[in-house]
Amino acid sequence: MKREYYFVILLFMLLACQSATEHSDHIGNRDSTQTESNDTVFIAIQPFTGMDTAFCTLAKREIEAFYTVTAEVLKPIDLPAIAHYKPRNRYRADTLIDFLYVIKPKKYLSVIGLTHRDISVTKGEYPDWGVLGLGFMPGNACIVSTFRLKRNVSVEKLRERFAKVILHELGHNFGLDHCTSPKCLMRDAEGTVKSVDEEEKSLCPECKMKLSNILKR
Ligand SMILES: [Zn+2]
Ligand SMILES: [Zn+2]
Repeated sequence: MKREYYFVILLFMLLACQSATEHSDHIGNRDSTQTESNDTVFIAIQPFTGMDTAFCTLAKREIEAFYTVTAEVLKPIDLPAIAHYKPRNRYRADTLIDFLYVIKPKKYLSVIGLTHRDISVTKGEYPDWGVLGLGFMPGNACIVSTFRLKRNVSVEKLRERFAKVILHELGHNFGLDHCTSPKCLMRDAEGTVKSVDEEEKSLCPECKMKLSNILKR
């Protein structure tokens, strides 16, 4: 009887140890999975109907290389009618950002909308002012248009401008403000392609430091 009693205790202890080992392994696995997913920042690229797919691929490549994130190109969708500004036949950038924010799947930190149509904002005394792109700071959505970038330029120049503008708007989403450094990517282009051409496709040391603090890398 006494022997059986000890045997039951021994069995119980063995099972308890096994259970504890399994539990800690499980926790270990879960922690490492969580760490991996926390380190990966996903960015969605949302093309609107008519956007050249080659530019979507370019956007993915540029965003991934510049910010060390994972970017995914989503299926094209129509521009929402609610953002259409009839008097100038163009689209309101702020309304498009609101729209993108609402449709953004949770997985993505930010979504960048791409369109070939002209986009605009209200700027001071101008009720509707054409822009290259718009991104809130910090924010989870931004929009870039190729409409004003492609005037009288080679494809190569257009691709360079496009890359700078998408990285600039996404920089705002990450929390980078406008910068006074003349060559910095975060310089305020004030809506002109001339300013975009003057910038370099890189951040000044101060903006680089800010970004690394924001992304904790
Ligand atoms: Zn800006
Ligand atoms: Zn800067």
